[in-house]
Amino acid sequence: MNDLIISGGTLVDPIDNYFGPGAVVVSQGKFAEIIKDKKQPKGNIDASGMIICPGLVDMHVHLREPGYEYKETIQSGALAAAAGGFTSIACMPNTEPALDNQEQIRFVLEKAKAAAVHVYPVGALTKGRQGKELAEMADMREAGAVAFSDDGTGVQNGNMMRRSLEYCRMLDVAVLSHCQYDDLADGGVMNESYYSTSLGLRGATRIAEELMIARDLMLAQYTNSKIHIQHVTSIGGIELIRNAKRQGIKVTAETCPHYLVFSDDCLKTYDTNLKVNPPIRGKKDMAALKKALASGIIDVIATDHAPHAWEEKALEFDYAPSGLIGLETALAVVATELVHKNVLDWLSLIKLMTLNPAQILNIPAGRFENNLPADITLIDPELEWTFAETDIKSLSKNSPFVGWKFKGRVTKTIVSGKTVFEL
Ligand SMILES: [Zn+2]
Repeated sequence: MNDLIISGGTLVDPIDNYFGPGAVVVSQGKFAEIIKDKKQPKGNIDASGMIICPGLVDMHVHLREPGYEYKETIQSGALAAAAGGFTSIACMPNTEPALDNQEQIRFVLEKAKAAAVHVYPVGALTKGRQGKELAEMADMREAGAVAFSDDGTGVQNGNMMRRSLEYCRMLDVAVLSHCQYDDLADGGVMNESYYSTSLGLRGATRIAEELMIARDLMLAQYTNSKIHIQHVTSIGGIELIRNAKRQGIKVTAETCPHYLVFSDDCLKTYDTNLKVNPPIRGKKDMAALKKALASGIIDVIATDHAPHAWEEKALEFDYAPSGLIGLETALAVVATELVHKNVLDWLSLIKLMTLNPAQILNIPAGRFENNLPADITLIDPELEWTFAETDIKSLSKNSPFVGWKFKGRVTKTIVSGKTVFEL
């Protein structure tokens, strides 16, 4: 028996670049039939005027559990994801304690069973994310970790990164690298530029990020390993990745919605929600990032959803923690800024948020294929709306987008055949 037939909309499947009339048949929580044709069975969900795409995948999320449950839990983060159209999310290991052993990975997966979306833990590369000793990655892989990263900070020691890459090559998983040398960043709280000087805020040079990207690319080449560069922010980083791809280095890269719509002059407001790590760069970087998404140098749009409590973000700029929440707004931001401003078409955008991250993590998502979990996102591409604080499902409210007007909105999110969000 078929549980669900979604028809009447525009089907988008990045696996074969299909963009056209179509329908999806779901049976027992899995895809049973994918119809890429005008001729469709009568559905029980009418998707007229909607885009029907594989559930969105966010490979960079901070869920804060264990340790900081007042900021976010696995359950609340999953609800925020569902509201943003995400059906699979990968959570970073900078919890307390860090996800650096089998027990912690099992803890996340146990909690994830009751979550609204699929949650995939990323294990730490080094014990306690201290950068001194390799973590038990094989054990964590066996328990279900999908990739490894010390995200939150960069691996400062080059030899430690080399060993991490070699280990992950053996396990056939990607290293996700947060690139920033702490010594060069020198305690900076924003991009080092004219604006850091004029605002009287300590600047972090872009070289802190770019130099580590260069190191990691060379090490990936030397060890013949896969490297994924997280949250790329600058022209220099893009150029390094472009050249590495030309040389056949196995590199993929992501950027985040906030780097596409904010530049360092926006910090004039001293809005601590714009304090992120690595920092928001200049206008030229912003333009280059958009081009890099269009040309395929950057493979993924991820949110780096980083919840913090109101009282933490209410501190002075120097003392507020880095990060903003992004799950609820990501699709709307990029639809408005990239699709409706003709930087990308819908198919390319959806590929950056489904198939590409799913392939990097090697998870069963990001495409329509019989017997895969029936994860589906419906998008109204033309819907105009204003993002309000009441739209936030996350436990934290540190979004710089409250009050923004958007065009394009997720209207329904389905995970394994079950509706987990509906407008
Ligand atoms: Zn990071």
